[in-house]
Amino acid sequence: MRRIGERAVVIGASMAGLLAARALADFYETVTVLDRDAFPVADIPRKGVPQGRHTHGLLSRGRSVIERFFPGWTDEVVAAGGVRGDIAADVNWVGHGVTIKNAPSDMIGLLAARPVLDGHVRRRLLALPNVRAIENCTVQGLVASADNKAIKGVRAKIGSIEQIIDADLVVDASGRGSSSPAWLEGLGYARPEEERIEIGIGYTTRVYRRRPGDLDGKLAVVIAGSGPNWRNGAMAYQAEDRWIVSIGGFFGDHAPDEELLFAAFAGSLPTSEIYDIVAHAEPLTDFITYRYPANLRRRYENLTDFPKGYLVVGDAICSFNPVYGQGMTVAAQEAALLQQCLEAGDADLARRFFAAARDAIDIPWDIAVGNDLRHPKVQGRRSLKVRFVNWYIGKLHLAARYDAQLAIAFLRVANLEAPPTLLLSPGNVLRVIRGNLVPGKPSRAAAGRTGDLSAEARRVKA
Ligand SMILES: Cc1cc2nc3c(=O)[nH]c(=O)nc-3n(C[C@H](O)[C@H](O)[C@H](O)COP(=O)(O)OP(=O)(O)OC[C@H]3O[C@@H](n4cnc5c(N)ncnc54)[C@H](O)[C@@H]3O)c2cc1C
Repeated sequence: MRRIGERAVVIGASMAGLLAARALADFYETVTVLDRDAFPVADIPRKGVPQGRHTHGLLSRGRSVIERFFPGWTDEVVAAGGVRGDIAADVNWVGHGVTIKNAPSDMIGLLAARPVLDGHVRRRLLALPNVRAIENCTVQGLVASADNKAIKGVRAKIGSIEQIIDADLVVDASGRGSSSPAWLEGLGYARPEEERIEIGIGYTTRVYRRRPGDLDGKLAVVIAGSGPNWRNGAMAYQAEDRWIVSIGGFFGDHAPDEELLFAAFAGSLPTSEIYDIVAHAEPLTDFITYRYPANLRRRYENLTDFPKGYLVVGDAICSFNPVYGQGMTVAAQEAALLQQCLEAGDADLARRFFAAARDAIDIPWDIAVGNDLRHPKVQGRRSLKVRFVNWYIGKLHLAARYDAQLAIAFLRVANLEAPPTLLLSPGNVLRVIRGNLVPGKPSRAAAGRTGDLSAEARRVKA
């Protein structure tokens, strides 16, 4: 691999920053990852990654990209209590109110507490001889050349000491709350245009005791919201004896952090797996909540003027409704794209990288936003394409209840392993048509759950 520069600096040591740093380590003499937090000694949640307390799963595409960066990483996570699982055989996927068929596939995902996933990436990264991290280091701004045409480093506060850290390349991986738009504006550049699709999602999360026979031995259930009540959630293996459950809904319809009402909310989901655990298993933690206001995309690729020596990655470019579980996989894909871009040198790097990232983000963005636009209160343009795709995917789900090939095709797209056009291949269209000619059982959602929490709570108590 070719050496491109002396020093690269990455702002943020969560998944996107760690993986970007791995890509940079092949091209820069030293790579320094800065984070405002101290890394916990054990793999437990930390302040800068609050979502780490909520259900996380790694899609098959993300797992294989990270495995390529750090061979043996999956085994290490499994040895630490995580579990690898067949995305199609070991996970129940519920969409449009129905569960698609389980079947063996070659898509292997990974389940573990989020801090465990990060911790194992971080330790592998910091074992590289040219990578180091500075903890308790809050980046406060950028240092630019006299004409503002190039970024030369960052201004940071390490503990209580302000310092300038020089760099040939600075990568912002500071997450959704990134200051890049403001920093760029301060240097005389335009802010990237932002697309926001408001969804007002809230998750309430609790960890429960897991027993081996739970969920028929499967490892997770993922429920994407559908009418009539649009509630959604996920329950995943977190460790041998732990389930993590996160459930919620749109626009303030959030699961209460009270035992009976939480169970009642779980009971109003279109399938009963989460309710069965919540109502009967031993809780191991208190409830915690998370508010997620909107899908958010910043269009750096459209800026005509951008400083040399600067990039933005991960949630700082695009953050998706978490129920689709795409964020870490997209961060991994971006790191792989950064590696490819650097193989061609650093000339025009920002333009090449943002164009490649745009192409990688387009599909997961369309999946998340397109599906969210099914909710009647979500504001956004419902193009003919969006309406057709949502109608077709609904029909596909109905057929995929019994058709393993369709279920796997859908999951290949949802796991970012195949383009959405796979679902429109003549063979798959035929299967969808055929599947909809066979009368199926009505779904629980279609059968209509009450959504009345007090009534459901009384039912739970009884
Ligand atoms: C509730 C929830 C559930 C999710 N579930 C999944 C899932 O199942 N699967 C999946 O793939 N994705 C999931 N995601 C998305 C996933 O968490 C993110 O996409 C992923 O963490 C990548 O984000 P990131 O590294 O870009 O930013 P973040 O994870 O937000 O990390 C930003 C980092 O930057 C640091 N930082 C911020 N500002 C500064 C500064 N000024 N100076 C120094 N350091 C700074 C922070 O301390 C932090 O370490 C979920 C998200 C949420 C909210």
